[in-house]
Amino acid sequence: MLATIPSSTLDGLDGVRVSVEVHVANGLPAFTIVGLPDASCREARDRVRAAIESSGLEWPLRRVTVNLAPGGLRKVGAGLDLAVALGILGATGQIPIEQLVGVAAVGELGLDGSVRPVRGVLPLVDVFDEPRVVVAAADARVAMLGLGERARPVRRLRDAVDALADGLPWPQIDLAFDPDPVEEGPDLADVRGQEGAREALLVAAAGGHHLLLVGPPGAGKTMLARRLPGLLPELDLEAARRVTRIHSAAGLPLPASGLVRRPPFRAPHHSASMAALVGGGSGQSRPGEVSVASDGVLFLDELGEFAPSVLDALRQPLEEGVVRIARSGGTREHPARVLLVAAMNPCPCGEGGSLNCRCNPASRSRYASRVSGPLLDRLDIMVHVDRPSPLALLDDRPGEDTASVAARVASVRVLAQERGVSCNAELNRRQLDLVAPLEPAAVEILHAAISAGVLSGRGAMRVRAVARTIADLAGGPPQIRAGDIAGAIGMRARPPMGGSDDCRG
Ligand SMILES: [Zn+2]
Repeated sequence: MLATIPSSTLDGLDGVRVSVEVHVANGLPAFTIVGLPDASCREARDRVRAAIESSGLEWPLRRVTVNLAPGGLRKVGAGLDLAVALGILGATGQIPIEQLVGVAAVGELGLDGSVRPVRGVLPLVDVFDEPRVVVAAADARVAMLGLGERARPVRRLRDAVDALADGLPWPQIDLAFDPDPVEEGPDLADVRGQEGAREALLVAAAGGHHLLLVGPPGAGKTMLARRLPGLLPELDLEAARRVTRIHSAAGLPLPASGLVRRPPFRAPHHSASMAALVGGGSGQSRPGEVSVASDGVLFLDELGEFAPSVLDALRQPLEEGVVRIARSGGTREHPARVLLVAAMNPCPCGEGGSLNCRCNPASRSRYASRVSGPLLDRLDIMVHVDRPSPLALLDDRPGEDTASVAARVASVRVLAQERGVSCNAELNRRQLDLVAPLEPAAVEILHAAISAGVLSGRGAMRVRAVARTIADLAGGPPQIRAGDIAGAIGMRARPPMGGSDDCRG
């Protein structure tokens, strides 16, 4: 007897449909699984056999062949277990074969017959058009984002057999949940002083402009960066689904509601490999940090310590908002729409700019050059962060809090949406000409900066976008004024300290 159950496997961020064909024939008892299974997939036999026996069902003492089609695709993980078990039960008549028509399944089996959640369930169930899709109860909430009423969540293999073979009702899974707690992220009100840095965070969040924080250790660069996601608007439904899919595929814990609603914050260590940061690599490819942070904030602390090749690999994703990953059978695109925040010390000893700096000009210059020019060119805002003065720390007046700054950010984001983009940083040259016309004095300032070699042509476009955001925050007229352009040029990132001697006093 032959039974075929649709299931799916994960390839990067995407689910790929797999047809699980189970053939049971007379002959010496044997179990063969073919069709490029990986190690954990090959172990399905032991899990499936134990689960079937633990469920009070019969393991066939015959020749069982499982074929996973298409054959050329590598099948990863244990998510095919459930389909293999249902196929065996169908091929041995323990579930009438006609009851399996229109049924797909994805779930891992425990030896006790339990059905366990799988990594990436949202992209995995996206491939099914079957009217009934059996998933683990623990995956129900996330699976239902993709399947709606077609989901058939079960806690045990037995639940599925009872429903399919004996016509018992599918189990009622309690989908009520405590609403996700309103995340009390760190608040900007805790930051004392730091007026310049606060302003930079506001402009970066409002316009989606990449930001570089430069300052000595202990100045609060990380503290500032962690407060950036709280300033960003809640994800709309489309973005929330996109982020949830990626986090599901990356195996990250999802919130109780199943849907990620807040912009993510990721802070990979400076020892991160290229594959960890942008994705790809050999074997089972997981999304890189730049994709996991998509629609949120990617924080690169100690920017100068990242391998230059790794930083170089970030340029294209930052430019295009997607990562292209070469895989067998073509290229995949993963989302990579991040707000990048980078932080670095001004020099190797960290004290650059003060009399305490112990570095010689050559080592300072070498340090600055580690951050490549092209990446620096993509950081539209740079701000120097100094250790707060003792007086500022004594000041017990709280700064403006996250909620009020977020409201100002939201109003600028609404303006951007009216311009057809999600934030001003996405405005291209044609759109800028349309929505950010320059008054004559502003043109002069821009031309002077280009002539002096302070700005590249590309840099000038970025400056105009930042100026648009500054003007939006000020509620100014549609025209960009000289002050807005000057402000944006003043914020633009340049190599920190360069080779200059000025921090030696
Ligand atoms: Zn130094």
